[in-house]
Amino acid sequence: MIIEGTLVTHEKTFHSQVQIEEKTGLIVAVGDNLGKADFTFDNNHRIFPGFIDLHVHCREDPSQKQSYKEDFLTASQAAINGGVTAMMDMPNNPKAPVSDKSYKAKKELTHKALIDVLLYAGIGPKTSPLSFPVPYKAYMGPSVGDLFFDKDEKIDKVIPMYKNSWIAFHCESADLLKEYEKESTHERQRPQICEVNAIKHAINVCKEHNIRMNVAHLSTKEGLQKVLDAKKLGQDVTAEVCQHHLYFDEENKVETHNPKFMQMNPPLRKGDDRAYLLEQLKLGNVDYLATDHAPHTLEENQEGISGLPLLDTYGLFITWLLEEGVPEQIITKVCSYNPGKIFSEFKDEKFGEIEEGFVGSLTVLNLAKKHTFKRDQVKSKAGWSPFENTTFPGSVAMTIVRGNVYGRE
Ligand SMILES: [Zn+2]
Repeated sequence: MIIEGTLVTHEKTFHSQVQIEEKTGLIVAVGDNLGKADFTFDNNHRIFPGFIDLHVHCREDPSQKQSYKEDFLTASQAAINGGVTAMMDMPNNPKAPVSDKSYKAKKELTHKALIDVLLYAGIGPKTSPLSFPVPYKAYMGPSVGDLFFDKDEKIDKVIPMYKNSWIAFHCESADLLKEYEKESTHERQRPQICEVNAIKHAINVCKEHNIRMNVAHLSTKEGLQKVLDAKKLGQDVTAEVCQHHLYFDEENKVETHNPKFMQMNPPLRKGDDRAYLLEQLKLGNVDYLATDHAPHTLEENQEGISGLPLLDTYGLFITWLLEEGVPEQIITKVCSYNPGKIFSEFKDEKFGEIEEGFVGSLTVLNLAKKHTFKRDQVKSKAGWSPFENTTFPGSVAMTIVRGNVYGRE
């Protein structure tokens, strides 16, 4: 299969053809004269290496207790809808993947997904490392589920066992969250300082034990500054920013009759935090763009369970970022190239670039066709979206997963 149009790599934007071999689903050639194209996209379109979301809660595990929320099939359908071709699934399940056995049992369930899935293993107060390499997630303070540390000092006993690993940290200090728990609003119960102190703590522990760390859903200016300072000193630390923290803030959030509608952890911040994150993304100082897709039903959302379903709108959101002035090469870096490196490390295949030998997954955006997102377009079992009735400046034209074509235009 040959696709022709404007390709966007992490280095440049140029017109070319890409050939994906049907049998293997791999890219076999990139060049100008590969033959007659099966799909040709005009200059309003951009062809990216398939987007990869590093932070998704698919909610399916061997207990099947939360599969009513989402499973690997429906999450992957929502992902394809949003132009996402691979995703990493979080471990805070009722039956959490924290050992060889529980990780493998959960991995069995991922076969039903239509896209590539990589599972995080969880780190908690009583866990120990798996016998094979996997990406890890550590919850420094309480969030959804019960896989977390309830005291900051407990981190120091457990994390050193995971020497040389790659760990994503949910950075909110358990000790500080307790101090603020009686405050009046969700945002005040989880103020900036909870994240900033947890980031400092994680950076110190990881530095000492040679751990590569990623700050999941980083939401504060000061937090990102801590990451950038540590990077300058040579530490392998990265920052993941989520779409909702770039688009919504305490002042501009969607107001409904339900005050908990826009509740998530970490919470929405002030406008200046949001502006700073967007600015730093444009400058290339953010490493990953993720959704933190959390497929709670509207009823659960009203009860105050934190998290928003966001996979369906991933690609639409990218068209907004492009219009805001985020350079195309930066988009490829944070959505494909950088997360592709993590996938490549743990999957024994090459992800995140349009090059011979890489997995043949592509995301095609149409930058000239506006799209108003409606509830009936949601593929996630959650069945709703905070972006309902939002008009985006562009649309997802096609999602190609290992040579399988999912059309939308
Ligand atoms: Zn999450």
